[in-house]
Amino acid sequence: MKTLPAAAVHALVDWFEKNAKPYLFRREPSAYSIWILEVMAQQTQIARAEERHRRWLERFPDIRALAAAPVESVLKEWEGLGYYARARNIHRTARLVVEERGAMPETARELESLPGIGSYIAASIASIAHGEAVAAIDANARRILARLCASPLSALRDEEARPYIEDMFRYRSAARVNEALMELGEQICRRQNPACAICPLAPWCRAARAGDAESYTRLAAKQYQKLDLLVYCVLRENEILAEKVPGGELWAGLWRLPYIYASAASADARNAEALGGFAALQARAGLDDLSDSIRALEQRVRHSHTKYRITMYPFMAAAGQTRPLPENMAWHNLCTGSERAFPSAFLKVMALLSQE
Ligand code: SF4
Repeated sequence: MKTLPAAAVHALVDWFEKNAKPYLFRREPSAYSIWILEVMAQQTQIARAEERHRRWLERFPDIRALAAAPVESVLKEWEGLGYYARARNIHRTARLVVEERGAMPETARELESLPGIGSYIAASIASIAHGEAVAAIDANARRILARLCASPLSALRDEEARPYIEDMFRYRSAARVNEALMELGEQICRRQNPACAICPLAPWCRAARAGDAESYTRLAAKQYQKLDLLVYCVLRENEILAEKVPGGELWAGLWRLPYIYASAASADARNAEALGGFAALQARAGLDDLSDSIRALEQRVRHSHTKYRITMYPFMAAAGQTRPLPENMAWHNLCTGSERAFPSAFLKVMALLSQE
């Protein structure tokens, strides 16, 4: 790969300095703040993660506050962002750092040795917070490089990308170059519809010259596994019956509404399956007979989670007389909420109930 000339690097960074979004981590570029934002941004675009990042820093302003918090509070603050293993890793790492080192390490190599911090996040923290000359290679940087060099994305290897980016540090700082590539990927060199006409790198871009930038970076369609769930919304005034997800299951350690997997394809057969599931749930939760109050909601909830495409069929029932619940179950208040964290799929079902 031929490296970029000085004029291209200056054009990129000058563009960034004029157009950078005023994100919180840019105003306060601490290692902790960058780390949290970068993990959040693995799920969503930085612009969308910004509000959650601000909320997180209000609740856990530094690594010591995070380490001191119970894991349930951390999962609750992560609620709706998905991939809860990432929140657990953040918490585990915070405790490890506070207990064993007192402060976050500064070099990319040391940062990468911590749980849940990969080479990209380590390089991002080390370059932006500490000025280390190390390339942060994420999907944005890969896409831009593939297009600049008119090389299929699948053929672009980190061993080539790294020296290509690090060569740019001869002209501008690593922090500026890494951030400029992130921002260009978000704003201009997007996965779909790259805005080549206004791109500062267009004069040096082979894909733009060829006129079909997207063709170099098409990804194979993601394969999903279909899951149909019959979800039980057992209500008691403003509360809904929730249960803790056991280890080893999808969403382990979070809370969910009770459900069973549906095997039936027709609505009638699903209703019959749901009744059987309700009987089992009554027995598990020690509830009185629910059968008179059971009804299927007309709306379905669709949700994609990692490799699953989930369709949820909600059923409602009203709990009458109730006895103490087993330890793994609780009544969750729909108005005031609680410290329990639910996966987004179940938050969508609960939102549906408010429209009923
Ligand atoms: S010119 Fe187009 S394809 Fe090339 S880097 Fe800019 S936006 Fe991406």
